[in-house]
Parts: sequence; structure tokens; C-alpha cells
Amino acid sequence: MNAPVFATLGCRLNAYETEAMKELAAAAGVANAVVVNTCSVTAEAVRKAKQEIRRLARENPGSPVIVTGCAAQTEPATFAAMPEVTRVIGNTEKMQADTWRGMTADFIGQTERVQVDDIMSVRETAGHLIDGFGRHRAYVQVQNGCDHRCTFCIIPFGRGNSRSVPAGVVVEQIQRLVDKGFQEVVLTGVDLTSWGADLPGLPRLGDLVMRILRLVPDLARLRISSIDSIEADEALMQAIATESRLMPHLHLSLQAGDDMILKRMKRRHLRDDAIAFCETARGLRPDIVFGADIIAGFPTETEQMFANSLQLIDDCGLTFLHVFPYSARKGTPAARMPATPGPVIRDRAARLRARGEAALQAHLASQQGRLHHVLTEGPRMGRTEGFAEVAFATDQPEGQIITTRITGWSGQRLTA
Ligand code: SF4
Repeated sequence: MNAPVFATLGCRLNAYETEAMKELAAAAGVANAVVVNTCSVTAEAVRKAKQEIRRLARENPGSPVIVTGCAAQTEPATFAAMPEVTRVIGNTEKMQADTWRGMTADFIGQTERVQVDDIMSVRETAGHLIDGFGRHRAYVQVQNGCDHRCTFCIIPFGRGNSRSVPAGVVVEQIQRLVDKGFQEVVLTGVDLTSWGADLPGLPRLGDLVMRILRLVPDLARLRISSIDSIEADEALMQAIATESRLMPHLHLSLQAGDDMILKRMKRRHLRDDAIAFCETARGLRPDIVFGADIIAGFPTETEQMFANSLQLIDDCGLTFLHVFPYSARKGTPAARMPATPGPVIRDRAARLRARGEAALQAHLASQQGRLHHVLTEGPRMGRTEGFAEVAFATDQPEGQIITTRITGWSGQRLTA
């Protein structure tokens, strides 16, 4: 009996949930199966999910194939129609022990093939605590879903409305991982800055950060995965300024650098808000490093509007750029807007990536000769507090924090 083969696409939240599913499947005795945890953020992500399903079905002949994740939640029929697929499971069902108990070998094919409930009716986060993580940095889910409705985004339809994991459960989860030897934990969710809006006393993300650092004193490094800068609270800014165990690295959900496009995206910030946030945070924590998501070719984007997005990289001092060529998602308002031609989208994405690469190279060059605390993730690879990758010339103990002087950089990595 072989443990199921798990494949994870998409975000850190999916990665966390895959770890939880591994434990649920093991506890239920599920074996000789393939589980694909999908993403639906772009049409390309759905295409990749189908490709992965076909590949794994070929490589595991006779094994039942279970498809879950956001693409299974938003378009179950697409996967139910695939001959390779045995079961389609929703984002809520995948985190329930009963779902896995109902999946032992002789059950496959007997119960309904598609188990995908209405995600919008979900009010609770799945309180599943994990015991480990397949790497040296552990992702911890603190929030799920989203109450916003950005015009290009399908995520709320895959994840439901926003709901928070209570602080006590988060602290217990992190203590459990620290007891297992994890040096770094990454708080993850869909819309992290809305954490607490559904909890008594309406605590904010900054309150959670402070509470974790206070109640888990032996946690060496706490990292925040991605935030909506316009919703950063006072306590979070305080933590950025004063807590050395909070990593000086923030990934910002900026999406564009032009006010008209931001309005048409139904974002809650304007370009000057993003610039002001980065200046304030850098004033509080001079070594802070920013990453950001930016969409290229949103419908109605003119060359001048795009130029404003390009310029935002310098105006905010961004280092790690995630570029998303606009992808129309069926059912979203933006999909009904006048589209930007495909070649223009691809050209703008390439120009954004080139500008992003130049910003990264400038950052790497600026680190030469500096001392850094690096969490090693492999014998010769690790990451700084600012999230830059480091290649070591000699073998290092894994999963440890090493203080080292940067000797230079090569490609997208620092060297030491
Ligand atoms: S904030 Fe906007 S982009 Fe982010 S998940 Fe919610 S709807 Fe999507």
C-alpha cells in the first residue's frame, strides 16, 4: 500500500492545505491514490491542472485520481468530464476527515463523484493543525476567503467569504511547528489583512503578529506572505518597526500603478497610497524589502496607463516582482470589459519582467559584503531575512540560521 501521490498547484495556502490533506488521508488509511490540489487564478493555471492530472494518471495506472482545490471548486464539471478523474472534491470538503474516511479503496466509485458544496455558505475555517511541512519554512493558514470583489478575480468564488482562524489556534499551531524544529513560519491566507474582522473584539493582523511573537518566544523568524498595503493596521506597522523576529519582507498585492486601472479593478488603493506605504514602512525598517503582484494588460489599459505601472517599480522600490499577464476569468466583471489584445498583454508582461529583473539585480548587487542571517533550505541554498536566495560555496547544515557575509551574486542568487 503506497501513500497517495500529492501534487500542489498555486499559492502557499494550497501548500498548507496539502500538508493537512496528507495527514487526513494517512489517518483514514487512503492509499494508492493521486490527489491534485488545483489553482484557478488564471486560465493558464487551470490548463496546467489538467496537464498535471493527465501526467499523474499516466504515471500511476490504476490509481484513483482525486481533484481538489480552487479550480475544482469553481469549475467541477470541467474535471468531472475528464476520464482520468475519479472524484472531484471542493475546498471545504478537502479539509474534512469524513471526506477522506469515505475514500478507502473499496469506496471509490460508489459515493457521488462530485462533492463540491456552496463555498459562499462557509463561515468557519477548517481548524486542522498540521505536524510538519515538506520543507524548512512552514506555512500556517490564519485566514481564508475574501470579502472583496476585485473585477478580475475569481478567488472569492473558489475560497468563499473571509473567515479567520482564532488567534489561540494559530499560536498553538506555530508552537507545534517550533517544537518540531521549524525556525521560520509564514502566515498565509487569501486576504491576510482582513484577519480578525469576524472575531470578537475585531483584532487586526498586527495584533496577531504581536501575540504570536509574545507567546512563542522561541520562534526565530515570522514572515507574512502577502498583504493589501492599504489595509495595514497600526499594530502591524509597530511590529515592522520594533520586532526583529518579524522578517523585513512584505509582498504587496498592488496589481497596477495607474489610478484609472485601479478603479476599474475595484482596488481599495491609489498609486500614491502604495508609494506612501512603502516610504513609511522603509522609514520604520530601513532594510525592508518589497515584492509585489502586478497585472499586465488589464482591459482598457493604454500605453500611458501601463507606463504608470512600470514606473511604480521604481517609485515603490520593489525588488521581487510577480507579473501576471491578464487572464479573463469567466464570470468576472473584467471579462466583460473591452480586452487588451493578446500580443500587447504578452509584450507588456515581458517589459514588466525585464524591469523587475533589473530591480532584483540592483538589490542583489547592493548586498555584496553585507552580513546576513540565512535560513538554510538545502546543503548549499538558503534565504535571507529579506527573502533573497543565497547559494553557499560549501555544504551547510539544513534548516539552520547561519550568519554569513555575502561575497557577491550570480543570476538571481546571492553567493556566500
Ligand atoms: S482582494 Fe481582490 S484580488 Fe485579492 S483575493 Fe480578494 S478579490 Fe481577489
